[in-house]
Amino acid sequence: MKGTCHCGAVELSVELSDGLNTARRCDCTFCARRGAIAVSAPLSGVQITKGAENLTLYTWGTGTAQHYFCKTCGIYTHHQRRSNPNEFGINVAILEGINPKDIENVPWTNGRHDHPSDR
Ligand SMILES: [Zn+2]
Repeated sequence: MKGTCHCGAVELSVELSDGLNTARRCDCTFCARRGAIAVSAPLSGVQITKGAENLTLYTWGTGTAQHYFCKTCGIYTHHQRRSNPNEFGINVAILEGINPKDIENVPWTNGRHDHPSDR
């Protein structure tokens, strides 16, 4: 699948681990503010096909999770997970042909009080 930020500076080619079946939200202090639904992809499943230099990185807390954003339009594209550093989380809303409003009953990860990496 192809993913793009809003301004078009960044493009990704994404092969998801299990389609939209991995769609999750998270209520940690960061994700709750970001508000995006993320789906999973293996590290090998993501290629930045355009504008890699236009991505910027945000880390916080343990610094394990690597959150990438377009420098120009601010759209979150993907992140390397803390819960599983062998995976990327992908912002479903950047994927062509997907409307996040069509994804129903997205489960919440309890990132604030019971993050898988804090157990
Ligand atoms: Zn952009």
